[in-house]
Parts: sequence; structure tokens; C-alpha cells
Amino acid sequence: MKNFEVLGLSQPLLDGLADMGFENPTEIQQQSIPILLKHDGDFIGLAQTGTGKTAAFGLPLLDLIDVNSREVQALILAPTRELAQQICGQMEQMSKHLGKLNVVPVFGGANIMNQIRDIRRGAQIIVATPGRLMDLMKRREVKLDALKYMVLDEADEMLNMGFKEDIDFILSKSDTGRNIWLFSATMAREIKRIVDTYMVQPEEVRINPKNIVNKNIEHQSIQLKASDKIEALRRFLDYDQDMFGVVFCRTKRDTQNVADQLNNNGYATEALHGDMSQAQRDAAMKRFRNKNLKLLIATDVAARGIDVDDITHVIHFALPDDPEFYTHRSGRTARAGKKGVSIALITRGDNRKLKFIASKLGIEFTQGEVPALEAITQKRIARWSDNMIKQEINEKIGEDLLTAVQESFADVTKEELIAKLLTKEYNSIYKRNSISDLNDRSKGRDRDDSPRRERGKRTSRGTEEGMKTYFINLGLKDDINKGALLGYVCDTTGISGAQIGRIVMDKTHSYMDVAEDVAPQILTLDGKQRNGHDLRVNEHKGVVKEPARERGGRGGRSGGGFKGRRDSNGGGGYKGRSNSGGSSHRGRRSDSDNSGSGNRNSRRRSDSSSGGNDSGGNRGGFKGRKW
Ligand code: AMP
Repeated sequence: MKNFEVLGLSQPLLDGLADMGFENPTEIQQQSIPILLKHDGDFIGLAQTGTGKTAAFGLPLLDLIDVNSREVQALILAPTRELAQQICGQMEQMSKHLGKLNVVPVFGGANIMNQIRDIRRGAQIIVATPGRLMDLMKRREVKLDALKYMVLDEADEMLNMGFKEDIDFILSKSDTGRNIWLFSATMAREIKRIVDTYMVQPEEVRINPKNIVNKNIEHQSIQLKASDKIEALRRFLDYDQDMFGVVFCRTKRDTQNVADQLNNNGYATEALHGDMSQAQRDAAMKRFRNKNLKLLIATDVAARGIDVDDITHVIHFALPDDPEFYTHRSGRTARAGKKGVSIALITRGDNRKLKFIASKLGIEFTQGEVPALEAITQKRIARWSDNMIKQEINEKIGEDLLTAVQESFADVTKEELIAKLLTKEYNSIYKRNSISDLNDRSKGRDRDDSPRRERGKRTSRGTEEGMKTYFINLGLKDDINKGALLGYVCDTTGISGAQIGRIVMDKTHSYMDVAEDVAPQILTLDGKQRNGHDLRVNEHKGVVKEPARERGGRGGRSGGGFKGRRDSNGGGGYKGRSNSGGSSHRGRRSDSDNSGSGNRNSRRRSDSSSGGNDSGGNRGGFKGRKW
């Protein structure tokens, strides 16, 4: 294999690469760098993300820039803020030994005046998202008289994200003899149009997608019921304490639902999707990068281009339609020579799609397994006993206290004591998980034996048959969302999640359907206080009007309530939750009660993230969890 020396790069860059631990160039780097260093013209690089494109254009660019000039000589356009920041970071690392070089990132959602100040200080290279760059060009803050290179990174993605006009504006206003280096995963029609309109006889390097499928990724598929997917995620997390992964969902609503359900059960996860503000997304990414989260639950668009080290697992909560998306997703793991697993959670109906993806990408899916409860138990008990043996004795515990406790245990033998301690740990594992084997290998009927209550027909008032509707004077303004309300009602009345149906929530109040046989229990809330707020609960016999604007599926239950729950194992999930009882559970619940509906997770995490950098996210709610 070639090393970087033979590609014609200067010594300071080779030193920078050595510091970064880059030993051998990737295929796109091998092929592109010599061309870009010598060829004074346009260039097209067709390669997927994760193939080392940043260094493929970044290294030659750094060698071609005149560090003694303070003028803008290169512009790099990237689809997202995250990617722009990553590119900047990598350029800075690579140019560490190169002398005075200013690489300035500019992107939307951040203070433009600070960016203008950075540019005015003299930026030789600007890394930008298209919208913000266009804005800065219109304000005449970016002068392009000395521009020599214009790099379009992930050009197909920028067009997919609706930056067509911005890119046209930037390219047409910067036509001062600069070279365009365009990188894209595909040569889609719109890309072809850009090439034909703005580029002159470009040199082309194409990395065949079949060759770039990362050999270090193990592709697995697991067939299971849709309603068991959340439980499967919980089991993975329970089994593998080193798990650090990204779960991909198809919609923003699904990401929020999955994150909410896992969070509600005490797992350190967070959603990442386009309905979150930039600040929320940044905060979530920071916590993920710092490994304060075990799983990031993301949409394809939000997670595009994310480069976080050491991701062990990519989980496809639902398969994408487009094989290319599968490549983008699974490319988050096994980066920089490491190994990783990509797990597709499929239902029986997905088998054809899985075969299509496999054949398009030339990969093979092996059959994976959701860890069985016995395996989780064995592993966790082994960890538990290991930790117990290693536990240092706190010298501050007074002699008196120690003697008193020893005396109260006088009649308990060592064997009994171990058995008692073990029982506690064992019970807690079984409370968290359902007993059933989730791996569904049935070829015949669609097995669905989950402990969910069958949903009945609705009455003319919209209430489910066999249920009554109750008014509760708690709404979105009380910093509660549907999931938190459900949890609160379950915890305080003893009604299980499976006995609760539709929840309709408005600003000031909510309606909740409750199974007739346990319905009166909800009235025990009437007259009680929650966070200083006097509760009023009564039966509602009228029609329930849905509020005009639903809050984007952030609640534990989405839209009409039933659908979200069916899809996302709400029934099973809440059953597990209310079973788990105990003080730590309650602690968690009140956590979510106190948080707002819109940005519940982010806010809760940021409140607690100051509590330390324990890799398991060992914040208040997670006390006692070993990871
Ligand atoms: P990219 O496609 O540029 O986002 O790069 C994907 C990942 O591979 C990043 O984490 C880079 O830091 C890493 N990487 C790129 N080139 C190399 C190389 N030649 N050797 C080792 N790691 C690399």
C-alpha cells in the first residue's frame, strides 16, 4: 500500500498527518491528491462519505494556498454546520506545521457579527454552509478577488437540502477564474447541471461504491415485531455496557418517540432531528461526542456527515428506502480503521427491501440476535459481583455504625447475605425486561403475543370503547408533555400504561381515556397538588376536540395517541416502567415531570450535564446504573 510520502505533499503536511495518526492514504486520497496538486483546472470526485474526502481535497488545498497572503483563496461549501465544523477542525489539524493559516467556519444559526469579525481578521480559507455564505457575500463581507479554489463537499446532499439557488448564486458571483473541486456521492441530474454550467473539462475520479463498502462493518439483520423494537434496544444497552451508537429512524416523530421511551426507562439517549433548534442540536451532539449518551436517535438528514470517533453500533430502527442512505448511515461506524456493527431491525415485510439493499451494495447480512434475558443476566451479574469485590471500603464509616450493622446481620450467614444481595440485583434485571424471546423467526403468521391490550373501536365522542374520558387541568404550560403526564398518572394512581388510551393535550388542560374498570382511580388525583398546582380531575362526557396544533410528536404519545403507542411499544414499555417501581424509578419520573414538552430531553440533559463526565451519563436519574 502506498503511503502519503509518494503523493507529492510537503513535509509540514506529512508531519501533520503523522501527528494525526494517518499512515496510509485512502483510495480517494491516493487518486485525487496527485491530480489536485498538479492539475490547474476543475475536478470531480465521486465518493461516499466516510471515505476520507476531507483530506483528499484538504491536503492539496493546504499545499496550494499562499500562507503569506491574508486574502480569501479558497471556499469550501458543506451542507451542514456540523460538517463545516468538522472540516475546519481537520484542516486545522493537518496544517498544524504549516505556518500562519486562518481557516474560518461560517454557518447559519450562529452570530453573524462574530463570523464577520473572524473573516475581517484575514481568512485564507472559509468553510461555509451555502445560506450563510450567500448572506455574507450579499453584505460584501467576503471578497473573492483572490479566490483560487471553490470546493463543493457533499454536493448532492447540499442540493437535496434545498441549497440549489444559494449554490447558483455563489458560483455565478465568484466566477473569477477559480477552479471548482466538486465532491459528491452520486452524479445526480442536478449535479450534472452544475458541472455543465460552471465547470470546464473537469478531471474525474470515481470510487466504485462496491469497493468502498467498509470491510470493517459487520452487517446484521434481526427480524422481530415492530412493537418489540424498543425492548430490543433496551436489551442491547443492558447487555453491552460499552455500546455507543446511532439509531436511525425515518421520521422526526419516531426519533423523539424512541428517545423519550428509552429516556423514560433510564437509558442515556437523546434525539437529533430537524425540529430541534440549532442550540439543542449542538448540545445533543456535544453530549454524544463526550460519550455522555449511549445512543443518539437521529433522522438521516440530521445525522448526515457526523464524524464521531468510536461509534460501535449503527442501528436501523427502520430501513431506509434508498441503499445509498444505508451506506451513509452505516458509515458512521467503523471509521478510521476501527470495527463496527450495523444492525437492521426488520419486520417480516422488510425482507425484500433488505435483499435489495444487500444486492445493490454488495454486502451480506448475517442473522443477528437480540440478547436473551439469561445472557443479560449472566453478564450483568458477573459485572455486579466484580464491582462488589473491587468495592473499596470507606474508611470514614465509623466503628460504631459498622459494629451496629454487623450485629444486626449476626444471624445471616455469608451465603445467605450473598443470596440476598444477588436477589436484589436479579430482580432489578427482570423488572427492566420482559421475559419473551424477541427474535422472531416465525415464517408463518405474524406472531403478536405482546402484553398489550387490544385497542377497541371508538365511540361517537372519540373515546375508545370500554374506556371513560377524564379532564385533567394539566397542560403544556405546566411543563409536562403526554409521556410525562402518562408516567405521572401511572405512578400516582397505580393505573398501568396499558389501561390508558388516548391522551389529548392542550395548553391548559388534557383529556385522558382510562379503562372503565380502573377509571375511578384517576379521581384520587382530584384535589392533590403537583408542583404547587392544585389538580382538578373529572369525568368528561362531551366530545374531545384535538388542539389546533399538535406539538410535533414530542410527547410520549403522538397525534391521536393510539397510533404512536402501537408503533412504538408504548403499552409494553409503560408496563415495564410501572412495574419497575422503586425510588430510582420515581426519581426519574419526576425528572421528566419537571421538564417542558418541547425540548424536554435537551433541557433535562443540559441541567444535569454539569454533573460530571461519567461516560455512562451518571447524572441524577442514572444513579445506580453501572454504565
Ligand atoms: P471523511 O470522509 O473525510 O469524513 O473521513 C472519514 C474518517 O476517516 C475521519 O474520521 C477521518 O479522520 C478518517 N481518515 C481520513 N483519512 C484517513 C487516513 N488516511 N487514515 C486514517 N484515517 C483517515
